[in-house]
Order: sequence, then structure tokens, then C-alpha cells
Amino acid sequence: MAVDILISEVGLRDGLQSIEAVLPTERKKAWIAAQHAAGAREMEVGSFVPPKLIPQLADTAEIVRFARALPELCVAALVPNLHGLRDAVECGVHKVSLPFSMSESHSIRNLRKTHAEVFAEIGRCIDFLRAVPAERRPRFDISLSTAFGCTIEGAVPEHRVIAFAERVIELGADEVCLSDTTGYGNPAQLKRLVTGVRHACGADRLEGVHLHNTRGQGLANALMAVELGVTTLDSSLGGIGGCPWAPGASGNIVTEDLVFLLESMGLDTGIDLEALMKVRELVQEALPEIELFGFTPAAGLPLGFEPAHESSG
Ligand code: ZN
Repeated sequence: MAVDILISEVGLRDGLQSIEAVLPTERKKAWIAAQHAAGAREMEVGSFVPPKLIPQLADTAEIVRFARALPELCVAALVPNLHGLRDAVECGVHKVSLPFSMSESHSIRNLRKTHAEVFAEIGRCIDFLRAVPAERRPRFDISLSTAFGCTIEGAVPEHRVIAFAERVIELGADEVCLSDTTGYGNPAQLKRLVTGVRHACGADRLEGVHLHNTRGQGLANALMAVELGVTTLDSSLGGIGGCPWAPGASGNIVTEDLVFLLESMGLDTGIDLEALMKVRELVQEALPEIELFGFTPAAGLPLGFEPAHESSG
């Protein structure tokens, strides 16, 4: 089933790592199964980091094995380094993302690595992947985090983002993803970055963007990305996790609102919105203390709403 826009659900990783509560493994499996049944075809289900750093994602290996059994689902996971990458390959992840913070202070604080050290680690990861048989080798994506600005350094030079994207592609990464980790981005900036990175690396090397809605610009940025031909958008069910430094704001863009935006414009996401609302209920039931975000779930679908994915079959 081909879709116009692939929505990559990141709630199980970006969302769950931002809340204190630990969602039990069985509840995570129920969430993944339900969202897959609603039409999701890519989900980032966890992160291969030491459990003591992010206990919420300690069951990632088991979750990956479960998700891999679902037909036509691209199972994605985050890895911070070669060690995590080895574990991810062992579990059979289809797509791995390694976050590379474009702000060096942020990189040192989060990954405890300077920029030079991250480039070296990426090189080691690529050497390792080259030795993995093709049928077991995941797609290797470098997520250019804080590409739109950093909470420690402020503005991040766009020429640096573009030059670093070019360098990781030269090293052998399959693709790069522009990540608005801090929700600083605006559509004009997104246009410059997408255009610049594609010019430097080739259009097929940048297929996805990862947006946050910290300042309410998430859907505006998503729409600009779609206009530029970006085909993969990350989002999180219910914007789960919120934003630690902006109370009342969602973290990632809300999957329900994003699906509504795209489907109402006639773009097929493959996702059934009514089924997605049921997934939301399931997750809210499992995490009763957590605030879920989203306008479409609150207002309901418009009378006579016709989703794109039904007309296109
Ligand atoms: Zn994020």
C-alpha cells in the first residue's frame, strides 16, 4: 500500500521518554498493534540506550521483536552510538536514527561527545553496518537535532547544518532528517534548510523531518515540508510527553491533527482517523495521569468529512 505521506509515529520513543511514568510492556504492545491496525506503517518504538539512563525504554529489544511481526510496518529505533546500533541490528530494527546535535554544547551535554567525536562514532557505525549482510542491514539515518536552534546556544548557523549533512552522507549514512528538537523552527527557515540540505546531498537523502509544536508552529512547518516534497513526517499520538519547558504545549506535533490536516487536503496517509481516536483512548487509559494534546480529538471530525485514504483505496 503506497501512501502520499508516511507518518512516522514517535510517541513510544520521544513521547514516553519525556514522562516519568513507565508504560508496561504489554500496554506498549497493545498501542503498537492498535495503531498498526489503524494504518500506521512506520513507528519508532524505542531507543537502545542503557536502561538506567531512560528506564521508560528499557524494554526496547522486546518491543522491537514484537513490532517486527506486524506486516508492512517499518520498525524504527534510536541509537546513540555503535553499542546501541549493534543491539538494534541484533533485534532486527528496519531503520535506525542516530541523533547528531548541531549545537556542540547540546551534543556534549546529551551524548557527551564533541562534534569531532560524533563524526568518528558515525564512521565506526558505518564500518560496522558495511559488514552486516544486506538483508539484515537497517537503513541508517542521521537525525540532525537542534537544527533549528538550541536552548543552550540559541541560533544554530544554517551553513553548519548543511555542511554536516553533506559530511555524514559522504561518510556513508543513508539519509539525514532535520530535527526541530526545541520547537524554534519556522516555515521560512525550514524551507532554507530543506532546500540547502537537498542541494548539498541530493533530494533522496532528505525524506523526513521531525518537528515539535512547542510554539504552535508544528503544523505550519509540516505543511511547508510537504510543499517542498518531504514525504515522511514524525509525530506523536496525543503529542504525548508535552514539553518540559513550555507547560501546556505538546512535544511533537500531534499525530491526530497531522493526519486530519493531510487527509482533509486529499493526501493519503493510510491512517483511519476514527481508528486512531480509539488508539488515543487506549493510551489515555494506560496513562491516566498524562495530558494528551490535540485539537481534532477535542472537536471531533467535521460533518461529512471524507478522508483521502478511502477515496484512493
Ligand atoms: Zn523530538
